Amino acid sequence: MIKLSKPIIGSKEINAVNRTLRSGNIAQGPQVKAFEDQIASYCNISHAVAFNSGTAALHASLFALDLKEGDEVITTPFTFVATANAILMQGGKVVFADINEDDFNLDFESVRQKISNKTRVIIPVDLYGQIFDYQPIKKLAQAYKLSIVEDACQSIGAEQNKKKAGSFGNVGIFSLYATKNITCGEGGVLTTNNPIIAEKAKMFRHHGQSEKTHYEYFALGYNYRLTDIAASIAIEQLKKLEKFTKKRIEHADKLSKGLKGIKGLLTPITKKNNRHVFHQYTIRITSDFKTNRKALIDHLYRRGIESGVYYPKPLHLHPHFIKFGYRLGDFPIAEKIANQVLSLPVHPALSNQDVNYIIRVIQDYAS
Ligand SMILES: *Cc1c(COP(=O)(O)O)cnc(C)c1O
Repeated sequence: MIKLSKPIIGSKEINAVNRTLRSGNIAQGPQVKAFEDQIASYCNISHAVAFNSGTAALHASLFALDLKEGDEVITTPFTFVATANAILMQGGKVVFADINEDDFNLDFESVRQKISNKTRVIIPVDLYGQIFDYQPIKKLAQAYKLSIVEDACQSIGAEQNKKKAGSFGNVGIFSLYATKNITCGEGGVLTTNNPIIAEKAKMFRHHGQSEKTHYEYFALGYNYRLTDIAASIAIEQLKKLEKFTKKRIEHADKLSKGLKGIKGLLTPITKKNNRHVFHQYTIRITSDFKTNRKALIDHLYRRGIESGVYYPKPLHLHPHFIKFGYRLGDFPIAEKIANQVLSLPVHPALSNQDVNYIIRVIQDYAS
């Protein structure tokens, strides 16, 4: 079976874990600090704060931005549920806006229409590994005094005009979950150029305790710390990120060339001045296709190829959000795209033969 994702863990990671286990520091300690420094320097940003998940880092970002009960946060319904749940965790109100058809990210006009006098934050998602178009939204945010949290959980290593993912908002968030472009099993990172945000984020992950004064509690906090065991894996993975990314881009280029011209199959777009890091390689299956998406998924599976739908239903149509008053028809583009997307394997553990095989199976099926 050609898997949709596969972590690449080698002897470097295993040796690093062994060293950490023998060091006596197994919870948050020097490895976490070293990883934070390395990721900050990689993103060319002044502060990085590690967490035990991307979700925890998202939650902390809204605390650090002083989100208050009832404050509105605008985000996309076409994302992983954690993006929206973090808003609820901090007492905020989730306000969805529709997406655009090019990169499935937030649509500028739709966001503009959702701004009210309660709006405090916008959370765009750098979906599938491509950075959102931040320029116009930043102007909007300045005009209305809003903060931006960049959910870059899927886009570590991506670039726009030579700037790295994680450096486009007031805060950036990465995930180190097992399926992400680099991983330590579970983990997350918050990036920022603002020392106050970094300080508050550190407090939040450590029970509301300041790093400077022991056993003084300033606010409600959580236990969101990353372990040195995990951080020592993350350090080795970060060293391999560039190699992994190049492979993903190479596989994606090959897939796009091979799948070009198939009726009813649209290959993903890389926008101008962007480096798309293909966390997912996502095609669209439209009504012009020979059969339908479900039939193609089944056929791929029979030929030993795993594929996935991210996301089969936009968030506003799940019971969890319908209770806030959303319904079918609210975000027509997100609803349409959710019915068309299909992600194919693109991870760096694939061989060139695997990629050629995926292309051949789809070409044969569609002809
Ligand atoms: C993975 C992911 C998250 C959550 O990260 P975890 O580390 O799994 O908590 C949040 N947002 C997006 C867009 C993601 O892909």
